[in-house]
Amino acid sequence: MNPHFNNERRHPGDIPARVYARLDSVEQIEEQYLVIGIDTVSADSADRFMDRALSADWSLGDLIARQRPDGVGEPPRPDWLGMYHDLALGQLEILLTREEAFFAFGPDVFSTQSSDWLEIELGPGLVGAREGLFYPTLFAEALSTPVGRISAAQPSLAASLQQAFSMKSWPRHSPDQLGPYLQATQAEIWAVYDIGQGSANGLLAEGGPVTLMHDIGCGVYRNAKTRPTGLVLCHSGPAPIILSHWDTDHWAGARAFAPPGDREVFLQRTWIAPYDLTIGPRHIAFAASILEAGGTLVILEPGAWKSNPIVLSDGRSLTLIQGSGHDRNGRGIALEVTDRSPHHRWLMTGDVDYEYLAPHLASNYVGVAVPHHGARPMGAKPPRPSVPYARLAYSFGPDNSFAHPRAESLAAHAAQGWDLGAWATAHDVANVAGGEVLATACHAPSSTHLRAAVIGWQWPPVPKPLPPCGATCSAALHQS
Ligand SMILES: [Zn+2]
Ligand SMILES: [Zn+2]
Ligand SMILES: [Zn+2]
Repeated sequence: MNPHFNNERRHPGDIPARVYARLDSVEQIEEQYLVIGIDTVSADSADRFMDRALSADWSLGDLIARQRPDGVGEPPRPDWLGMYHDLALGQLEILLTREEAFFAFGPDVFSTQSSDWLEIELGPGLVGAREGLFYPTLFAEALSTPVGRISAAQPSLAASLQQAFSMKSWPRHSPDQLGPYLQATQAEIWAVYDIGQGSANGLLAEGGPVTLMHDIGCGVYRNAKTRPTGLVLCHSGPAPIILSHWDTDHWAGARAFAPPGDREVFLQRTWIAPYDLTIGPRHIAFAASILEAGGTLVILEPGAWKSNPIVLSDGRSLTLIQGSGHDRNGRGIALEVTDRSPHHRWLMTGDVDYEYLAPHLASNYVGVAVPHHGARPMGAKPPRPSVPYARLAYSFGPDNSFAHPRAESLAAHAAQGWDLGAWATAHDVANVAGGEVLATACHAPSSTHLRAAVIGWQWPPVPKPLPPCGATCSAALHQS
């Protein structure tokens, strides 16, 4: 396991002088300001890694190609994947005006489409430096550092980095090949977990364990403080995990919320994830840790698509929809679950705006996870609530740095007939909404976690103060 993914704090002397990097996230926080998140690896550790990778006669793509749907495959030799532990990974965050961001990263910065490899100098004494925040691990506090010149990597270096840290050679699957992986899934109830600023959803069998996850994220980096303490997600069955997209707040809960005695239990699962050539070294190293733990990676083909319905053992069905957007969020994989009565549906969006799912969506849903933690919506209108029972899930962390959920998201859903309860008039997320809203948190002054919520098909399921699987986890269901 790479130390970047561990909870332990590393020594605070750990800021490398030179990093290779890729743009990871761009969040507009006020009209003029952007928080730019950059996925970094120290130049020294990446150079050593690339030397070793050149002489190796295997690649991650080879290891993935050897996996079989029944999970029986040659386990990778442990020493092979050890080289991913030695990468000095980090997250660099800088606050820029739109103008500064344009000059530093080019016009693609506004859509996070940039896939350029960058070289950045960090540390004291750099000419024209600005202050940035460097996170040595997912959950450590930031270290402040001067950030020097940000330049595009030389073409030959960029090509080597792309060779070493990309999914380019990884085998891809059609979404219509997923049946064997999802056979044991049941969808009696939908649990929306309170994991702070991020997303994690579970599909549960009746009175039983989680049988499928859509994302298993949590608050990280500047939002690390939003994650709840002491949560252990349900791990009693071998539920596969559909990763909507390669953003850290959608996968980091696999480490954070594993039981203390079995930290790799979620990594050992089957992970169904999108193909994405823009991800940086952190996500590739995380994928390597899944393989190292004995997990399976099923990478889906790129493009905007909708799978055929996959019939589950309880007679319900799942449809995967890959968004038609142009960035990592907008190309994510949403999940539609259909009840035995075909007019009843749930929609889990990940961070995909309705705009990029629109041609495939039904007019109304019993349950909807609001896209992107309630970020400002794009053009398309949200679907309407089913009657007489419907629930709208907002997954965000208390007082998160992005001010999710936004008033515009609340207004767009209210305009489509969703009952926002106490949020309806003042759009005040300091209150518990009630109505048809299930939110994971309240903002200041109470700044509280509201804990996991549960959605049914015909009426609100009875909340369960103890975990429905029989108490080997702490994933109780508190609100409905
Ligand atoms: Zn997200
Ligand atoms: Zn459990
Ligand atoms: Zn995202």
